Amino acid sequence: MQLLKKKSAIITGGTAGIGKAIALLYAQNGADVAIFGTNRERAEQTLKELEAHRVDSEQKFSAHLVNVAQFKEVEETIQKILSDWGKVDILVNNAGITRDNLLMRMNEEDWDLVLDVNLKSVYNTCRVLARSMMKAKGGSIINISSVIGLTGNAGQVNYAASKSGMIGFTKSLAKELASRNVRANCVAPGYIETQMTEGLSDQIKGQILANIPLGRIGSPQDIAQAALYLASDLSSYVTGQVIAVDGGMVM
Ligand code: NAP
Repeated sequence: MQLLKKKSAIITGGTAGIGKAIALLYAQNGADVAIFGTNRERAEQTLKELEAHRVDSEQKFSAHLVNVAQFKEVEETIQKILSDWGKVDILVNNAGITRDNLLMRMNEEDWDLVLDVNLKSVYNTCRVLARSMMKAKGGSIINISSVIGLTGNAGQVNYAASKSGMIGFTKSLAKELASRNVRANCVAPGYIETQMTEGLSDQIKGQILANIPLGRIGSPQDIAQAALYLASDLSSYVTGQVIAVDGGMVM
């Protein structure tokens, strides 16, 4: 079943990890897909993989080199997509980074960078796209937060603040846009195997695993399936929610 037939989606950070898994699953479900990232090689590789997941000859795929922290870049790119495609039904704010350190050692640059890439980016994309979704009287905004935004974590005050901030942003936006049938929800992944987490030591990985009731590390596909549900009409009565996809880590 193609759950996203005739829908179009923008996925930030669609060039790697969780965002790439979402992009490919959306393509497999019939959507037009535009991915944002900053790495040309990864963007071109993902575009090839999107082609391989095509299910309809009419489907459109595009990759855009854009720094999501920069309002002007985001605005120009989204306006171009809107003029090419006429509409965007689904927005996935997934681009994210970490710059971990204890507060007493964290410099201002790492605070600002994480807040700009992880949280200001959500303002940037939603500010530009919300108007067209409201006019279309429909849309789904999916923000990829983190269980760290729910629990906090020593060594991640910048990351946790950005991910909690996404949740407050999403609930507020859901209330602002609900009357126009535009929904906004968060997915809060637990520990997922991607390049973001590959640098963790085996000892830390072992400690995390011991706290996952389902007894395994998550895959990008686990998150993509939740993002597919939230993008599709299967979730048409769901807004302002945070769905933790974490093997039961936080309950
Ligand atoms: P990842 O593999 O490191 O991928 C990050 C993606 O973000 C890449 O596509 C990267 O694209 C893009 N990106 C980074 N900075 C950007 C910028 N300034 N402008 C545009 N794109 C940018 O990370 P991931 O593990 O898939 O994480 C995806 C999201 O899930 C993040 O928001 C992360 O916080 C969240 N999350 C992950 C986990 C986990 O365990 N992995 C857990 C909870 C939440 P380029 O390389 O092309 O710039």
